[in-house]
Amino acid sequence: MKTEYILGIPVDVITLSDIMAELPKRLAGQEKTLYLSINPQIALHASNYPEVMSLIETASHRIPDGIGMVKASQQQCGAIKERVTGIELMYQLLEYADEKSDSLFLYGAKPEVIADTVKVIGNDYPNIKIAGWIDGYTDLSEEEIVESINQVKPTFVFVALGFPRQEQWLARHYQAIEARVFQDVGGSFDVISG
Ligand code: UDP
Repeated sequence: MKTEYILGIPVDVITLSDIMAELPKRLAGQEKTLYLSINPQIALHASNYPEVMSLIETASHRIPDGIGMVKASQQQCGAIKERVTGIELMYQLLEYADEKSDSLFLYGAKPEVIADTVKVIGNDYPNIKIAGWIDGYTDLSEEEIVESINQVKPTFVFVALGFPRQEQWLARHYQAIEARVFQDVGGSFDVISG
């Protein structure tokens, strides 16, 4: 996989179909998968957060999120030809999880938003096992949240706290969480819940 640097931030040259084609191989292996969406806001501001920068540098996938990334690439070597939005990727991962009857954990968004997101996913993807969910305004400590996830060991973890909170949280806890695939999804639960 090639990587292009936009404003000093690594962004991988990868499409949605590439991601979905390699997912089964990644799940069959040992390595965790971390999909980080790199949009213009993140490209502009990530360097203010050293822990977010090192997460981006070590993540398995830095996704070109939005047409702004394609345009920025055109000003350079033009390797990034297609955007992959976080919500599109999340929907594809939900479809995959539904086909495989996989489990997932949702963390973030307002209590009513996450409750509705759980309902919508339950209706639209009936084979998915929703192993748990915690809203983004909980009184639970970060350690308690990690413990809750590790009790159920889901395949997928979706984190929706907005930038930079979700990336900072992943930087602190990603290694300790017993799950296989992680995605930072920004406002996606708000979209899914309608
Ligand atoms: N959010 C959260 N906890 C917080 C702040 C934000 O769960 O302390 C959620 C918010 O409810 C929304 C998501 O994070 O569902 C994205 O928030 P925002 O729109 O502020 O971020 P952006 O999409 O601009 O990254």
